[in-house]
Amino acid sequence: MITTGYPAISGPKSVNDRIAVVGGGISGVHMASLLKEKGYKNIKIFEMRNEVGGKAYSRLRRGVYNEFGTIFLTDIYDQVANMVKRYTPRSRIKSKGLSSIMVREFEFSTWRALLAQNTGERTREAARRRIQEAVERYDRIHTCLFGNYSFELMPRPTPEVMRQIQGTVQDFLERHDLMLLAPYFRTYLTADGYGFINDTAAIYGMAWVPPAVIQGTFTPENGFWILDGAFQAIVIETAKQNQLNVHLEANVERIKRLPGPGGIQITYSTRDHPSVETEHFDFLVLSPAMNSLLNIVDFNAKERHLFSRLYNSNFVTTLIESDNGIRGNDPQVYYNDAVDQDDYPVFASFNFYHAKNNITGENHRLGIRENGPDKNPQETQLYYQTGFADPFAKDVDIMIQSKLVSHLKKFRKSNPRVLEQTKWGYYFPRFSGEDIARGYIWDVLDMQGQFNTWYIGSSVCFESMESVLEYNNLLMSIFH
Ligand SMILES: Cc1cc2nc3c(=O)[nH]c(=O)nc-3n(C[C@H](O)[C@H](O)[C@H](O)COP(=O)(O)OP(=O)(O)OC[C@H]3O[C@@H](n4cnc5c(N)ncnc54)[C@H](O)[C@@H]3O)c2cc1C
Repeated sequence: MITTGYPAISGPKSVNDRIAVVGGGISGVHMASLLKEKGYKNIKIFEMRNEVGGKAYSRLRRGVYNEFGTIFLTDIYDQVANMVKRYTPRSRIKSKGLSSIMVREFEFSTWRALLAQNTGERTREAARRRIQEAVERYDRIHTCLFGNYSFELMPRPTPEVMRQIQGTVQDFLERHDLMLLAPYFRTYLTADGYGFINDTAAIYGMAWVPPAVIQGTFTPENGFWILDGAFQAIVIETAKQNQLNVHLEANVERIKRLPGPGGIQITYSTRDHPSVETEHFDFLVLSPAMNSLLNIVDFNAKERHLFSRLYNSNFVTTLIESDNGIRGNDPQVYYNDAVDQDDYPVFASFNFYHAKNNITGENHRLGIRENGPDKNPQETQLYYQTGFADPFAKDVDIMIQSKLVSHLKKFRKSNPRVLEQTKWGYYFPRFSGEDIARGYIWDVLDMQGQFNTWYIGSSVCFESMESVLEYNNLLMSIFH
């Protein structure tokens, strides 16, 4: 484990300290389990919803889990893989298979074909060679900039390195003559709802899409993996098997931090009790997006300065049952013509029932093996929309639903029925390229423990399951 270059941080002082963890998503539950393993005895998780999981949210339908939140793993997801092995060993990690890309009205292609086309080479082999050369160069640049390090977030770069990585992913690729790799970053970031490469800070791309991830796309499995079980089950089982103390339906409304033992006051409401309750703790772990807590936690000037700079998008995922209409070749489809629109286009859909039952290619497109083990002729599919406007605002909601309906009509899905719709606010809370160049993401790391508080979860690293686990591991390794 290489911890050189990271700061040493403080944390809870004694194993008897009372520790409050706000949020029962993967980051909060995992951190509580790590602390418990280290001998801390008094840990309590406050979770506003009636179950743990947060953005790992899986619903069983027709014998398979549909993922409304976390969907896939990439080749570098060793921490998630460890959790699967340890907590849900019966769940298998399987190749996600290919995706269809709709390039124009009902004209479908594949990522591989599009990426090869982008090189301008005439043969696939020549295209592949050029991409491979670019990946190797990216690898050398990555190592030259950051050296070897053990966690997803690299140690704070030197001012010279900071200069070379400042700006957006696109700035970085242009600066280093790596534009051939732009479609990969577009696939990983834009097509997965993380935003445009000319807006997303370069550091997020370099941390979450290191060269090894792109190399993975050259393998037969394509570098993308799904679970035949459920991502949420990992969180539920971690809480259960470690016998964590989770207070469900506890909505934390106010946190005050006064000096001295027991100085952390958590005030929360529960569904069944109209009045709020307050409990006292010695140490605090915050896992929701830090910018969602600006009116809840008594952040001091330094914390407020950093966290008010975060901005986020939002996600809407809808599971719809309908009569089969037009389909792509694969259970997962990206609508490339829509992905560049700003607000809430349906930019992807995923038929988990077919993917998990291995119904792909012609069988999927034409409904030849319609419709898998349960013989139900209807299609059950998840639709993904993302945007910056508040999805809970009435006018925005109207726009979201109407874009969804238009999409279904266009693809001739008749008799649609919404089985469930989930809205995720505070998706990918991030710093701008300028704020990353100011070092804000590492300023947060330096601040860990200083105010009797740890800040974990996606807003202080990156919005992925692997990233939040990696960040927890980093904190535990540099905590003395
Ligand atoms: C549609 C979608 C697709 C995704 N796809 C992928 C993917 O393919 N691969 C991948 O790795 N990641 C993916 N992600 C991201 C991944 O799911 C998240 O990064 C990860 O689950 C974040 O975990 P977390 O614990 O940091 O945050 P969260 O899961 O958001 O947990 C925070 C918890 O805090 C609770 N909370 C918030 N405020 C309060 C309060 N005031 N009081 C009490 N409780 C509170 C919330 O209810 C929540 O349970 C996806 C996310 C979404 C939404």
